[in-house]
Amino acid sequence: MNRMKRMSRRAWLGGAAALAASAGAGALIGPIRAQTHAAPRSYRLEAVEIAARTWCVYGAQEDLSRANGGAIANAAFIQTPDGVVVVDTGPSKRYGEALAALIAEQLPGKRILRVFNTHHHPDHVFGNQAFPREALAAPQAVIEAMTAQSEALAANMYRILGDWMRGTVPTPPGRALNASREEIGGRVFTLTEMKGHTACDLVVRDEETGLVFAGDLAFLDRAPTTPNADLPAWRASLAALRRMERDSLLPGHGPVDPQGASLDQTLDWLDWLDGTLREAVARGLTMNEAMAAPIPARFAALGVARTEFERSVVHLRARMEEEILNGIPPDRL
Ligand SMILES: [Zn+2]
Repeated sequence: MNRMKRMSRRAWLGGAAALAASAGAGALIGPIRAQTHAAPRSYRLEAVEIAARTWCVYGAQEDLSRANGGAIANAAFIQTPDGVVVVDTGPSKRYGEALAALIAEQLPGKRILRVFNTHHHPDHVFGNQAFPREALAAPQAVIEAMTAQSEALAANMYRILGDWMRGTVPTPPGRALNASREEIGGRVFTLTEMKGHTACDLVVRDEETGLVFAGDLAFLDRAPTTPNADLPAWRASLAALRRMERDSLLPGHGPVDPQGASLDQTLDWLDWLDGTLREAVARGLTMNEAMAAPIPARFAALGVARTEFERSVVHLRARMEEEILNGIPPDRL
């Protein structure tokens, strides 16, 4: 919480500086003048130990914004006997650099041996630039999606986050993963390609701790995002994650989850979303009418629920309408 309070304060200072700059010198008063000298925005990242020699840097359970610098997704790092494995790198070059600095502080002298990208969404991979190019790795389909969409994704991130993105250049991994098991620095990882949140979602299981890095197939206490969602595939992946032997699971957004509550919550949300959209199509509701649907009380505690629901109406409704009109059996949707 403290971290977020600090971030909000910094963001406010940034806003005050901009206001002061646009107001002209004559309008300046003491406190605002002082704030025009505020330091450039920086991330203050904190590593939380979530398993043996494994740390998570939690993202804010929020939407991308200039208040949080886009730091909304989880990033993690693992100490192996010979170096460090990183899972996801955050939203910007500056975040990646802050993450690399935190790792260097936490594990002095340890080399970054591998950086896994769980999927192509920019809140997870736009910090890649700060890490050794040869360490970056993802399934081929993730690399292709990042490469194909990098310009559009970057434009959107710059528009939303402004100065936080300065110098960020999307950097897809050069190494395509094709093994289901990899030993890195003396620690063994199982790699499974799933899909549903996007066309390719990498799941990493640390064989030593039984911790599963689920990427954005799992959300906990925050509404799932759906710009590239395939709901039936996502459900199948959640079922596969449920069957996977694990001691704990790290969702892409939300706290570490020993019990698998994120799998239940994500599935519950997707089922509700699917049913609600299907009903809206059946009733011939307009987009705005569909967006006005009440969100059930059980999702009240989820971050960003209303916003994500409205976005999902936009993402999924047209596709669903077309499929229903084309007479595809409902169980295939
Ligand atoms: Zn995502």
